[in-house]
Amino acid sequence: MIERAVAVLRRGGLVAFPTETVYGLGADALNPQAVRRIFAVKGRPADNPLIIHVAGAGQLRDVAREVPESAWVLAERFWPGPLTLVLPRHERVPLETTGGLETVAVRMPDSAIALALIRALGHPIAAPSANLSGRPSPTAAEHVLEDLQGRIELILDGGPTRIGVESTVLDLTTSPPTILRPGGVSPEQLRPLLGEVRLGGEAAAARRSPGTRYRHYRPRAEVVLIERWEEAKHRPLLERLGARAYRIGYVGRDRGISFGKATVHLVELPPDPQEYARRLFAIFRELDQQGVEVIVVEGVEEEGLGIAVMDRLRRAASRIV
Ligand code: AMP
Ligand code: MG
Repeated sequence: MIERAVAVLRRGGLVAFPTETVYGLGADALNPQAVRRIFAVKGRPADNPLIIHVAGAGQLRDVAREVPESAWVLAERFWPGPLTLVLPRHERVPLETTGGLETVAVRMPDSAIALALIRALGHPIAAPSANLSGRPSPTAAEHVLEDLQGRIELILDGGPTRIGVESTVLDLTTSPPTILRPGGVSPEQLRPLLGEVRLGGEAAAARRSPGTRYRHYRPRAEVVLIERWEEAKHRPLLERLGARAYRIGYVGRDRGISFGKATVHLVELPPDPQEYARRLFAIFRELDQQGVEVIVVEGVEEEGLGIAVMDRLRRAASRIV
């Protein structure tokens, strides 16, 4: 199967493949025509740069013009794994791949299938998440089919992904380094190696990591995020939501909750941030399939992977209470 996938990539085609975070939609990162097809197939804005996947830290020199000491240290500690490093672009990497930026984002995924594919191709692979732009990221091959069937050449099925949210994007071209997107590696894990790490607020992230500006992760149902459930559950809001929906998906702990006359599709809040991260996008897609019109989610504590979970929930939500 890897041979078939490599043949597809060599002729400029697209292959969806599993990583430990989410499924990626891969093209040869050094082939501008192939990379352009990724944007066309996903409906992705052309200025939203792609992450380049490598099979080892040695490949950093092929895609980055300069590799600071900190990049080697972080790669040694966290690769293969969900940490993406932003570095100065090597001229070999086409601007199509970087969305016109003079930087590249690069990581080594922790998936035997992904690594075999990159090694067999002999080039790095550019891959955003393998979903239609704006939709929940795919954490199983079925999700890729749901969004992209008929538009891409091949899907490598590696079963459900282990982490479930995307990688942490860390910009090493700033001092101190900036987290542009929270993800599978938490700030607490980075601090011992880097000393100071800045958490890029909305403004910094939108400027330096254009992708974070766009709508993201949205199921068809409207998502309402209740950050402080204990305060909000007594307010008439829930009643009002129930008045304009027949079916409500509720991701939370309150088994006795009612939303007026609406039927409640309860999804028990995952017990820890790891499991929440792993299941979040699949829960959105399942509730869509059950035909709910509104998804009400309880917030979780912003610690460890909970930071990435809350980031995705806030971006998916059309209302935050
Ligand atoms: P996706 O692979 O769909 O999860 O999106 C890739 C993420 O990485 C987006 O949020 C991009 O903005 C970010 N990214 C990719 N390349 C760069 C770069 N050169 N500089 C900053 N952020 C980047
Ligand atoms: Mg994405």
